Amino acid sequence: MFFETLLGNEQLKKNLARSVSAGHISHFYLISGPEGSGKHTLARLLAAAILCRGEQKPCMSCPACRKVMADAHPDFITVDDPEKKTVPVDLIRQARADMYIQPNESDYKIYLFPRAQDMGLPGQNALLKVLEEPPKYGVFLLLADNPNKLLPTVRSRCTELKLLPLPEDALLARLQKEFPNAQQEDLLAAVSRSGGFLGQAIQLLEGGETIGPQTALFLQGLGGKDAMALLQALVPMEKWKREALSDTLNEWLELTENALFCRSGMDTVSPHARELAAGRTSKELHQVTRHLQKAIQYTQANVSPAAVCGYLEWELQNI
Ligand SMILES: [Zn+2]
Repeated sequence: MFFETLLGNEQLKKNLARSVSAGHISHFYLISGPEGSGKHTLARLLAAAILCRGEQKPCMSCPACRKVMADAHPDFITVDDPEKKTVPVDLIRQARADMYIQPNESDYKIYLFPRAQDMGLPGQNALLKVLEEPPKYGVFLLLADNPNKLLPTVRSRCTELKLLPLPEDALLARLQKEFPNAQQEDLLAAVSRSGGFLGQAIQLLEGGETIGPQTALFLQGLGGKDAMALLQALVPMEKWKREALSDTLNEWLELTENALFCRSGMDTVSPHARELAAGRTSKELHQVTRHLQKAIQYTQANVSPAAVCGYLEWELQNI
């Protein structure tokens, strides 16, 4: 059985393999775990297992499994527009309407929502209607870095599959295989900074910083209590356009919220948020969150970027 393709999470894989081969398929799965924890891998394996025509599901060799792996199965449909910050509600409504059309070539029709936490309230409400009365062949796979952003009414209807951190030795062994030329100390550092999640460790080793220079300075300034770095981040932003300012402030808000989750003992965060959490107390992070929320409101209320940044320069330095 090829759930093995996913590293670690032994109990979860065992339970899934058992329930799928017994034909026990839920209508709604919520696959949760931080960035790089294997949500996409698991979603694809689960879709293949549900659509598989072989004996041991997913067999990975029947036409159905191959099509799922090649992203070419007509009954495995992704609902997202990566260009948009929030998953457009129209796409969710379209999927809802499409779900009432019978599957093309299988017994099931599977819809994948790669960013369930970014569906927004209207999107989640649109989804709720299907959750209440799904057709018998309908399966929804919701992927979420942060399942706390889902409405409790949505979350409670899902079978939740939570991806856990890997044991350090298993993670290290895998990294040694993927990066045969890397120094042992770099591998060990990546293991410890990744929080136990393979995708994050790989990103760290590939030097894949996904944050911009302004956000890097914000992290340095706030996490390291470095007032100069904070100013270096904010002063150039005084001249930015409103939309760019709002995007960056939202990114900071999300990082700070994730750092707060991390402080409350949850592991659903990125390495950057974890570093921020290490440098600040929950109370301080709450204060930062409040100031950022205000700054975002000001930006939307047509306050000039210079004034918004001035407000943050003053308030954030005093935390
Ligand atoms: Zn198969």
